[in-house]
Amino acid sequence: MTAPTTASRIRGCLLGGGVGDAMGAPVEFLSLTEIRAAFGPDGLAGYAPAYGRTGAITDDTQMTLFTAEGLLRTQALHEEEGVAHPPSILHRSYLRWLHTQGHPGQGIGDRKDPDGWLITQPVLHHRRSPGNTCLAALRSGRMGSLAERLNDSKGCGGVMRVAPIGLVAAHPLVLGVQAAAITHGHPSGYLAAGAFARIIAGLHAGGGLRESIEETLEVLGGWPDHEETTVAVRAAIDLADNGPPTPDRVEQLGGGWVAEEALAIGVYCALTAPDFRTGILAAVNHSGDSDSTGAITGNLLGALLGEEAIPSPWTDELEAHHLIAQIADDLIAAFVQGASVDSGRYPTW
Ligand SMILES: [Mg+2]
Repeated sequence: MTAPTTASRIRGCLLGGGVGDAMGAPVEFLSLTEIRAAFGPDGLAGYAPAYGRTGAITDDTQMTLFTAEGLLRTQALHEEEGVAHPPSILHRSYLRWLHTQGHPGQGIGDRKDPDGWLITQPVLHHRRSPGNTCLAALRSGRMGSLAERLNDSKGCGGVMRVAPIGLVAAHPLVLGVQAAAITHGHPSGYLAAGAFARIIAGLHAGGGLRESIEETLEVLGGWPDHEETTVAVRAAIDLADNGPPTPDRVEQLGGGWVAEEALAIGVYCALTAPDFRTGILAAVNHSGDSDSTGAITGNLLGALLGEEAIPSPWTDELEAHHLIAQIADDLIAAFVQGASVDSGRYPTW
């Protein structure tokens, strides 16, 4: 098998995350017992309806797209001004996401009218069980950072949205941390995000999954308060050495409601996956936060295996898949091909 191209990894990462999110959406709040009662002893084997349709994306994919938008705007501003502060621009992008969640103008600061192309997409203007920490932090009118932590939350809302950072950032671990700290103040909330972005970066560069994880753990070990995240990821690696995934094994890593557990489950399901399909189904058929663990696993496997590894019926039925592919293509144009960023789509305000 030939290695995927860089473009295929980028499209695979974003579309794969969307597919995993959509796969988990109908069972996010169901226990394993309830999943088996509804879908049979093996659980879900494909999309089931959620939010009134099959293939529905949730806040995980929405926020991932706004992360990508922020990165494209950062690049545009850098081209125009020669400087840019990526965390501030990502914060603005997340405020635009907040706008789509029915809080028009909330937290936008000095800007009354959120601008740009992404926010005009009706398909994103749906509430799909957004995380309370993300909503509250963004509505606070303040931008969280390592220096000014807004709360002590380590919910998985920081980690589940940062995959695009791993595809383009020069320092993915640092920017992944900064992006998550905008809303999540607990070290595991932002360090799991930095680690996730760094693992994605390793895959994007053509590295193996195990190798990318080990490299990441080495760098992560230099950060204060890394222990909880390191232990969680190390547990996932050890468990992966013990045979194929089962729901019981996934649940040994926790429920994924908190960031380091969501990352651990994603890492475990990706490490044990013989193919994209098997990995995604393992990532959603458990009692925990199935859409986020599905999204993280899908980002990892898509970046590792490329777009071609995703079953095409799953991509075709995925809500907003044209939009997701468009953002991926914009990242490819701006960061791989060196083209100028479309200022109509990604204005520098
Ligand atoms: Mg969700």
